[in-house]
Formats: sequence, C-alpha cells, structure tokens
Amino acid sequence: MAGQPFDNRPGVIWFDGEYVPWADARIHVLSHGLHYASAVFEGERAYSGAIYRLEDHTRRLIESGRVLGFEIPYSAEVINKACNELIVKQGHPDSYVRPIAWRGSEMMGVAAQHNRIHLAIAVWEWPSYFDPAERLKGIRLDIARYRRPDPMTAPSKAKASGLYMICTISKHEAEQKGYADALMFDYRGRVAEATGANVFFVKDGALHTPTPDCFLDGITRKSVIALARQRGYQVIERAIMPEELATFSECFLTGTAAEVTPVSEVGPYKFTVGDITRTLMEDYSAAVLPGTQKLAANA
Ligand code: PMP
Repeated sequence: MAGQPFDNRPGVIWFDGEYVPWADARIHVLSHGLHYASAVFEGERAYSGAIYRLEDHTRRLIESGRVLGFEIPYSAEVINKACNELIVKQGHPDSYVRPIAWRGSEMMGVAAQHNRIHLAIAVWEWPSYFDPAERLKGIRLDIARYRRPDPMTAPSKAKASGLYMICTISKHEAEQKGYADALMFDYRGRVAEATGANVFFVKDGALHTPTPDCFLDGITRKSVIALARQRGYQVIERAIMPEELATFSECFLTGTAAEVTPVSEVGPYKFTVGDITRTLMEDYSAAVLPGTQKLAANA
C-alpha cells in the first residue's frame, strides 16, 4: 500500500549544495525543523522534462523562509539549477520536485537564532495522470473539523510545514470516512481550500473562488484563473459562505499535485463534472507541457 519507501530509493538528493546518495540524505533527530516545524517546502512538477513555473516555486520557497524569519543560504539561480539537474540525474521526465529548507541542530529550544539553515531537494517519478475517464467521475470531499487559521494566528501565506498538521489530521479523518479529501473552512467560517489544493466553483457560467487572504494563493490557482479568462469565463474572487455550496453546479480543485481535479461531492452537496471543469482540465494539461509553459505562466 505504501509503495517504495521514501528513505531508500535509487539516485541522488541535492543536500546543502552537494549531490548525495538518496539513502544518505539524513538529518539528526535533534533538528529544530523536526521539533518546532521551522521548515518550509515546495511541491513542483516536471512535465516531459520541464518543471512547470519553477521560478515561481523557488521565489515562494525563499519568501516562505523569510516569513519564518530565515534566509535560505542559496540563490534562486542555484536552487533552480539544482532542480533542473535533478530531473536529468534521476532520469524521470515526469516527476515531482520537493525542495525543503529547515533549521538545523545548533540550538534546541524555541529560540534558534543561530541555527544553520539547510536545504535539500529530492525528485521522484510522478507520471502524469493517464486515465481521464476515472478522473472525470470527480472526487468526494468531507468537510474538515479544523479551520484555516487567522493570519494573526499563523503565518498562513507561507508554505510552512507546521500549517500541514491540521491538513494531515483532516485528510486522515476524511479518508477514514471513505472520502478522498476534505474541504476546509477558514477561521471566519468561510470556504477556504482543500488540505493541499485550492477550490473553485461554477455558477451560471462564471467561476467563483475564495479570496486567498488566509491560505496559499496557489500557483496552479493563478494559472487556472488566467486560462479561464483566456476562455472568456468570468472569474470572481470573493468570500464564499458554506450555505452557498448548494447554489453551485460544478466544483474542482487546483494544485501542483491535484492539477485540475473535478469534485462530485462536498459533504451533503452534489456537483456535476461539467463543461467548464472539463475545458479547464484540458487547458491546464496543455499549458504545463514544455513549449506552452511560458505562455500560460505569463497569461
Ligand atoms: N493549498 C495548499 C494547502 C497546498 O498544499 C497547495 C499545494 N502546494 C495548494 C493550495 C496549491 O498550491 P500550488 O498550486 O502552488 O501547488
């Protein structure tokens, strides 16, 4: 069920500036990042050998570190080069890319002003999704018990490890009930996002999506908004209340891993996988391919 373990695979991991054998990319148990979640990461995808919107992901990684009060000691150029080299070294043109930065072991307490900042990047094979028929059925979402925190309570705009604690709990609870994932509301009770993807709805031919004021403004979300506008669809970013779920006809998730994933149910609410969702699935699949990538990123 778990498949090949992540601590023992063939190939190399980029670790603090060097390529090390995959199984040797280890850290000490007394790492600040492990104890206090002082870690930020990215999730990227390569399609046919090219990482989609790599520069945007690297920028967000560096900015997430700054939000947590640290400076990643490698430039964007160095990070981008390492990501690209890993695609070649690992030999997977269709893959997932995971850079992670964390505070090391020099101090072990809440304060860690002088701890070294480490950076590692791993790439593993992630073939693109080949079974559109299965996907077009849509996934079922539970409604999460936890809520996205107030930006005054947590650094909600960073892609920071600590923010995923409630996502894992919510996703596990959803899976135990037979759902694929969970929709999370925010601290005000508004619709926010799924545990690892943004959410969109369709009503009367227009797209509605929550304003990302306390959760990640996903890179895929921005691409899909641009693609939708290119198609002439109206896109409305606004506060969405849970009661409104009954008024939408279509629903889908967006994310680097999720791409554009249709949703058929959210708790008691039902949606059809309609034309707009299907069109944006296709447009996104075309946009991520090398050659068209720049076009979509600039849209
Ligand atoms: N929200 C959360 C909580 C996520 O983990 C992700 C995936 N990174 C997203 C949204 C979507 O972001 P992106 O499109 O940049 O992958």
